[in-house]
Amino acid sequence: MKKTPLIIFDGIDGSGKSTQAALLKERLKDEHKICFTREPGGSPLSEKIRQIFSTPEGVQASARTQFLLLSAAHSHWLEEVALPNLKEGTPVISERGDSSLFAYQIHTKQRFELENLFWEIRNNIFGEYHPVLYLIFDVSAVEAKRRVNTDAVRTRSLFDVEPIEFFERARAGFRTFAEKLPNETLLISGDRDPKEIHEEVYQAISELCGWK
Ligand code: ADP
Repeated sequence: MKKTPLIIFDGIDGSGKSTQAALLKERLKDEHKICFTREPGGSPLSEKIRQIFSTPEGVQASARTQFLLLSAAHSHWLEEVALPNLKEGTPVISERGDSSLFAYQIHTKQRFELENLFWEIRNNIFGEYHPVLYLIFDVSAVEAKRRVNTDAVRTRSLFDVEPIEFFERARAGFRTFAEKLPNETLLISGDRDPKEIHEEVYQAISELCGWK
Protein backbone atom coordinates (compact mmCIF):
# COMPACT_ATOMS: atom_id res chain seq x y z
CA MET A 1 0.00 0.00 0.00
CA LYS A 2 1.17 3.53 -0.81
CA LYS A 3 2.28 5.70 2.09
CA THR A 4 0.06 8.75 2.63
CA PRO A 5 1.98 11.54 0.91
CA LEU A 6 3.35 14.78 2.29
CA ILE A 7 3.84 17.17 -0.65
CA ILE A 8 5.43 20.61 -0.71
CA PHE A 9 4.73 23.41 -3.21
CA ASP A 10 7.67 25.77 -3.31
CA GLY A 11 9.51 28.32 -5.39
CA ILE A 12 10.26 32.03 -5.34
CA ASP A 13 7.54 34.60 -4.75
CA GLY A 14 5.47 35.01 -7.88
CA SER A 15 6.31 31.52 -9.12
CA GLY A 16 2.68 30.45 -8.86
CA LYS A 17 2.39 28.39 -5.66
CA SER A 18 -0.88 29.94 -4.47
CA THR A 19 -2.36 29.90 -7.96
CA GLN A 20 -1.63 26.19 -8.29
CA ALA A 21 -2.92 25.39 -4.79
CA ALA A 22 -6.16 27.26 -5.64
CA LEU A 23 -6.57 25.45 -8.97
CA LEU A 24 -6.03 22.12 -7.26
CA LYS A 25 -8.55 22.89 -4.50
CA GLU A 26 -11.06 23.96 -7.12
CA ARG A 27 -10.54 20.77 -9.13
CA LEU A 28 -10.80 18.49 -6.10
CA LYS A 29 -13.79 20.16 -4.47
CA ASP A 30 -14.93 17.53 -1.95
CA GLU A 31 -13.94 14.57 -4.03
CA HIS A 32 -10.73 13.80 -2.15
CA LYS A 33 -9.79 14.78 1.38
CA ILE A 34 -6.55 16.78 1.45
CA CYS A 35 -5.06 18.91 4.20
CA PHE A 36 -3.87 22.18 2.63
CA THR A 37 -1.45 24.02 4.86
CA ARG A 38 1.49 26.42 4.74
CA GLU A 39 4.86 27.10 6.27
CA PRO A 40 5.89 28.87 8.33
CA GLY A 41 2.48 28.60 9.91
CA GLY A 42 -0.29 26.07 9.86
CA SER A 43 -0.42 25.63 13.64
CA PRO A 44 -1.19 28.51 16.06
CA LEU A 45 2.35 28.57 17.45
CA SER A 46 3.94 28.40 14.00
CA GLU A 47 1.68 31.24 12.81
CA LYS A 48 2.98 33.29 15.74
CA ILE A 49 6.53 32.59 14.61
CA ARG A 50 5.51 33.59 11.08
CA GLN A 51 4.32 36.94 12.44
CA ILE A 52 7.79 37.58 13.86
CA PHE A 53 8.99 37.78 10.28
CA SER A 54 6.76 40.79 9.64
CA THR A 55 8.40 42.73 12.45
CA PRO A 56 11.67 44.72 12.23
CA GLU A 57 13.23 42.38 14.83
CA GLY A 58 12.44 39.35 12.68
CA VAL A 59 13.58 40.93 9.45
CA GLN A 60 16.83 42.21 10.91
CA ALA A 61 17.72 38.98 12.73
CA SER A 62 20.76 37.10 11.45
CA ALA A 63 20.26 34.25 8.99
CA ARG A 64 21.16 31.79 11.78
CA THR A 65 18.57 33.18 14.18
CA GLN A 66 15.96 33.16 11.43
CA PHE A 67 16.98 29.61 10.54
CA LEU A 68 16.46 28.44 14.14
CA LEU A 69 13.13 30.26 14.55
CA LEU A 70 11.87 28.79 11.29
CA SER A 71 13.08 25.33 12.30
CA ALA A 72 11.03 25.61 15.49
CA ALA A 73 7.99 26.63 13.43
CA HIS A 74 8.67 23.70 11.10
CA SER A 75 8.88 21.25 13.99
CA HIS A 76 5.62 22.43 15.51
CA TRP A 77 3.86 22.39 12.14
CA LEU A 78 4.97 18.80 11.60
CA GLU A 79 3.84 17.68 15.07
CA GLU A 80 0.53 19.51 15.10
CA VAL A 81 -0.60 19.60 11.47
CA ALA A 82 1.23 17.26 9.15
CA LEU A 83 1.68 14.16 11.30
CA PRO A 84 -1.86 13.89 12.69
CA ASN A 85 -3.26 14.11 9.16
CA LEU A 86 -0.76 11.71 7.63
CA LYS A 87 -1.36 9.21 10.42
CA GLU A 88 -5.06 9.17 9.72
CA GLY A 89 -4.45 8.73 6.00
CA THR A 90 -5.06 12.31 4.81
CA PRO A 91 -2.52 13.60 2.28
CA VAL A 92 -0.91 16.91 3.22
CA ILE A 93 0.02 19.66 0.74
CA SER A 94 1.96 22.62 2.08
CA GLU A 95 2.71 25.96 0.45
CA ARG A 96 6.39 26.31 1.24
CA GLY A 97 8.42 23.91 3.35
CA ASP A 98 11.97 23.36 4.49
CA SER A 99 13.01 23.88 0.85
CA SER A 100 12.37 27.60 1.48
CA LEU A 101 14.61 27.51 4.53
CA PHE A 102 17.35 26.07 2.35
CA ALA A 103 16.76 28.56 -0.48
CA TYR A 104 16.46 31.73 1.61
CA GLN A 105 18.34 31.41 4.89
CA ILE A 106 21.22 29.39 3.44
CA HIS A 107 21.48 30.23 -0.25
CA THR A 108 20.05 33.70 -0.68
CA LYS A 109 21.79 34.92 2.44
CA GLN A 110 24.86 32.90 1.52
CA ARG A 111 25.24 31.24 4.91
CA PHE A 112 26.52 27.93 3.54
CA GLU A 113 28.01 26.94 6.88
CA LEU A 114 24.42 26.25 8.03
CA GLU A 115 23.91 23.55 5.45
CA ASN A 116 25.09 20.56 7.52
CA LEU A 117 22.84 21.68 10.34
CA PHE A 118 19.99 21.97 7.85
CA TRP A 119 20.22 18.30 6.81
CA GLU A 120 20.64 17.16 10.40
CA ILE A 121 17.61 19.08 11.65
CA ARG A 122 15.64 17.97 8.61
CA ASN A 123 16.23 14.29 9.38
CA ASN A 124 15.53 14.81 13.03
CA ILE A 125 12.23 16.62 12.47
CA PHE A 126 10.82 14.54 9.63
CA GLY A 127 11.87 11.15 11.03
CA GLU A 128 9.99 8.55 9.03
CA TYR A 129 7.63 11.11 7.45
CA HIS A 130 9.81 12.87 4.90
CA PRO A 131 7.99 14.66 2.07
CA VAL A 132 7.59 12.34 -0.90
CA LEU A 133 7.55 15.20 -3.37
CA TYR A 134 8.63 18.82 -3.63
CA LEU A 135 7.02 20.58 -6.58
CA ILE A 136 9.34 23.50 -7.23
CA PHE A 137 7.77 26.10 -9.52
CA ASP A 138 10.62 27.54 -11.51
CA VAL A 139 10.33 30.94 -13.19
CA SER A 140 12.88 33.61 -14.02
CA ALA A 141 13.50 36.28 -11.42
CA VAL A 142 12.40 38.96 -13.88
CA GLU A 143 9.08 37.26 -14.57
CA ALA A 144 8.44 36.57 -10.86
CA LYS A 145 9.12 40.17 -9.92
CA ARG A 146 6.94 41.42 -12.75
CA ARG A 147 4.09 39.26 -11.48
CA VAL A 148 4.32 40.33 -7.84
CA ASN A 149 4.56 43.99 -8.85
CA THR A 150 1.47 43.82 -11.04
CA ASP A 151 -0.68 41.71 -8.70
CA ALA A 152 -3.09 44.22 -7.17
CA VAL A 153 -4.79 41.78 -4.77
CA ARG A 154 -1.64 40.22 -3.40
CA THR A 155 -0.86 40.29 0.30
CA ARG A 156 2.64 41.72 0.15
CA SER A 157 5.38 39.41 1.29
CA LEU A 158 8.65 40.57 2.79
CA PHE A 159 10.45 39.15 -0.20
CA ASP A 160 8.35 41.11 -2.74
CA VAL A 161 10.27 44.33 -2.14
CA GLU A 162 13.68 42.72 -2.46
CA PRO A 163 15.85 43.55 -5.49
CA ILE A 164 16.03 41.30 -8.53
CA GLU A 165 19.38 39.80 -7.36
CA PHE A 166 17.59 38.46 -4.29
CA PHE A 167 15.04 36.69 -6.49
CA GLU A 168 17.86 35.31 -8.64
CA ARG A 169 19.76 33.92 -5.66
CA ALA A 170 16.59 32.42 -4.21
CA ARG A 171 15.81 30.75 -7.53
CA ALA A 172 19.32 29.30 -7.62
CA GLY A 173 18.78 28.08 -4.05
CA PHE A 174 15.65 26.17 -5.02
CA ARG A 175 17.40 24.69 -8.04
CA THR A 176 20.28 23.55 -5.84
CA PHE A 177 17.82 22.00 -3.40
CA ALA A 178 16.28 20.11 -6.34
CA GLU A 179 19.72 18.86 -7.37
CA LYS A 180 20.41 17.61 -3.84
CA LEU A 181 17.17 15.65 -3.66
CA PRO A 182 16.62 14.55 -7.26
CA ASN A 183 14.30 11.66 -6.41
CA GLU A 184 11.94 13.73 -4.28
CA THR A 185 11.83 16.87 -6.38
CA LEU A 186 10.00 17.87 -9.54
CA LEU A 187 11.14 21.13 -11.07
CA ILE A 188 8.10 22.51 -12.87
CA SER A 189 8.48 25.17 -15.51
CA GLY A 190 6.23 27.94 -14.19
CA ASP A 191 6.48 30.05 -17.31
CA ARG A 192 3.43 28.53 -18.94
CA ASP A 193 -0.31 28.90 -18.87
CA PRO A 194 -1.51 28.18 -15.28
CA LYS A 195 -3.95 25.53 -16.55
CA GLU A 196 -1.19 23.69 -18.38
CA ILE A 197 0.93 23.72 -15.21
CA HIS A 198 -2.06 22.56 -13.22
CA GLU A 199 -2.41 19.46 -15.42
CA GLU A 200 1.17 18.49 -14.63
CA VAL A 201 0.61 19.13 -10.92
CA TYR A 202 -2.63 17.16 -10.90
CA GLN A 203 -1.05 14.18 -12.65
CA ALA A 204 1.83 14.06 -10.17
CA ILE A 205 -0.43 14.35 -7.16
CA SER A 206 -3.09 11.93 -8.28
CA GLU A 207 -0.43 9.34 -8.89
CA LEU A 208 1.04 9.80 -5.41
CA CYS A 209 -2.37 9.75 -3.77
CA GLY A 210 -3.39 6.66 -5.73
CA TRP A 211 -6.39 8.29 -7.44
CA LYS A 212 -5.72 6.59 -10.73
P1 ADP B 1 3.28 32.69 -5.26
O1 ADP B 1 2.21 32.07 -4.41
O2 ADP B 1 4.32 31.69 -5.69
O3 ADP B 1 3.89 33.92 -4.69
P2 ADP B 1 1.09 33.42 -6.95
O4 ADP B 1 0.38 32.15 -7.27
O5 ADP B 1 0.50 34.29 -5.89
O6 ADP B 1 2.62 33.14 -6.64
O7 ADP B 1 1.23 34.23 -8.32
C1 ADP B 1 1.73 35.56 -8.33
C2 ADP B 1 1.05 36.32 -9.48
O8 ADP B 1 1.38 35.72 -10.71
C3 ADP B 1 -0.49 36.31 -9.41
O9 ADP B 1 -0.95 37.56 -9.88
C4 ADP B 1 -0.87 35.20 -10.35
O10 ADP B 1 -2.15 35.41 -10.91
C5 ADP B 1 0.21 35.28 -11.40
N1 ADP B 1 0.53 33.97 -11.98
C6 ADP B 1 0.59 32.78 -11.32
N2 ADP B 1 0.90 31.78 -12.17
C7 ADP B 1 1.07 32.35 -13.39
C8 ADP B 1 1.41 31.85 -14.69
N3 ADP B 1 1.66 30.56 -14.89
N4 ADP B 1 1.50 32.74 -15.71
C9 ADP B 1 1.27 34.06 -15.50
N5 ADP B 1 0.93 34.60 -14.31
C10 ADP B 1 0.82 33.77 -13.26
